[in-house]
Amino acid sequence: MRLDSNWNRRGFLGTVGLIAGAMFAPRKLFALNRAAAAVSTKVSGFGHTGNPYEELGVTTLINCEGTMTTLGGSLPHPQLEAVMTMAGRHFVSISKLEVAAGNRIAQMLKLPEGYTALVTSGAAAAIQSGLAGILTGGDGKLIRQLPDLTGMKSEVIIQKSHRNPFDHQLRSTGIKLIEIETADDLRAAISNRTAMMHFTNFANAAGQIKVDEWVKLARQYNVPCMNDAAADTPPVSHLWDYANLGYDLITFSGGKAIRGPQCAGLLIGRKEMVANALLNNSPNEDTIGRSQKVGKEEILGMVKALELFLAEDHDALAKEWQARLELISRQITRVPGVSTSFFVPDIANHVPHMRITWDEARISLSVEQASKLLRSSKPAIAISGEEEQPGLAMNSFMLQPGEDKMVAAQLTTLFREHAV
Ligand SMILES: *Cc1c(COP(=O)(O)O)cnc(C)c1O
Repeated sequence: MRLDSNWNRRGFLGTVGLIAGAMFAPRKLFALNRAAAAVSTKVSGFGHTGNPYEELGVTTLINCEGTMTTLGGSLPHPQLEAVMTMAGRHFVSISKLEVAAGNRIAQMLKLPEGYTALVTSGAAAAIQSGLAGILTGGDGKLIRQLPDLTGMKSEVIIQKSHRNPFDHQLRSTGIKLIEIETADDLRAAISNRTAMMHFTNFANAAGQIKVDEWVKLARQYNVPCMNDAAADTPPVSHLWDYANLGYDLITFSGGKAIRGPQCAGLLIGRKEMVANALLNNSPNEDTIGRSQKVGKEEILGMVKALELFLAEDHDALAKEWQARLELISRQITRVPGVSTSFFVPDIANHVPHMRITWDEARISLSVEQASKLLRSSKPAIAISGEEEQPGLAMNSFMLQPGEDKMVAAQLTTLFREHAV
């Protein structure tokens, strides 16, 4: 059972109904929750309990933080499993498969004329390969030479407020990042060394030059531009919005809200640039991207994940996620001193969130303590505070059915235990 629209429609059946239903539909067995998983498995040796994590002594978590790579990203859509298994039953030319999958994805997303997609090992890989392709073009000597930039352009322009840990993937090609703040700075920074202009989608509000203006300036100066929108679905339209705006390359994570294979991502972009990105990536050897292998399983899984993601009722999902938060809110605010409020981040993890605050005069507990105690409780819950904000913040889009009630109960117990 996972948080898909299928589950929402059947939500009223409850867990028992779902398990019973699954018994008559064996192919759905993999979707069962932890308690029931042992029943469904025919594995002997490692994995025989249905929870190989526990067999290794590693605790599984209830995830209130969202699509965090450090917590395992997201739970792949259950239907992926069958398609990825089918992928593992044949040999194919990986390069041909990449091109065919890219064409299918371009059709599904109705990308503009001249655009295609490449399944990469993640958005980070898409960032590196996309830039590498711009630097080398189709020149085999230059491809083998990276990150030595002799004979290539050597600079990427980025707004100062758009710097983030994932620009390491840009720097890994050997380029130097040139930080600017205003459109005038940009004009002054552009030279014959400029390879690309990079935009970090989640930082749109922080920068002086906005997402639509950045691409216009890039067009004006005839410089390729990339938008890293890794975590910026939902809304689903972001998958084509930035190509429609004219960005040459756009990156997305497959293993976040799209719920694709966990080691997959997308590079969307102009055909020639995407082809050059692939030349700089696995399965091609002596390339900077050879360490970012994607398998046939991830490539087919990503096509399936997008098909499912596009078909989902995103409004209904958002309502379900909000309802889960409200259920938790109703219970925990019965403890004197506990308050909640709701918000939706404008961009990146654009899903319902709840902030939980409490009067420390009535509940003797710091945010750090609360987070630590919940992480080590049974069941273990991953939930943390936010920078420069009071209290704990949570979202519910990675919760599995029934976990909202478990979180409500655990939080209530924690607050009551620390009431003064
Ligand atoms: C998660 C993320 C990435 C990396 O994505 P992967 O698919 O994990 O490689 C890159 N940029 C931003 C802004 C992200 O949030």
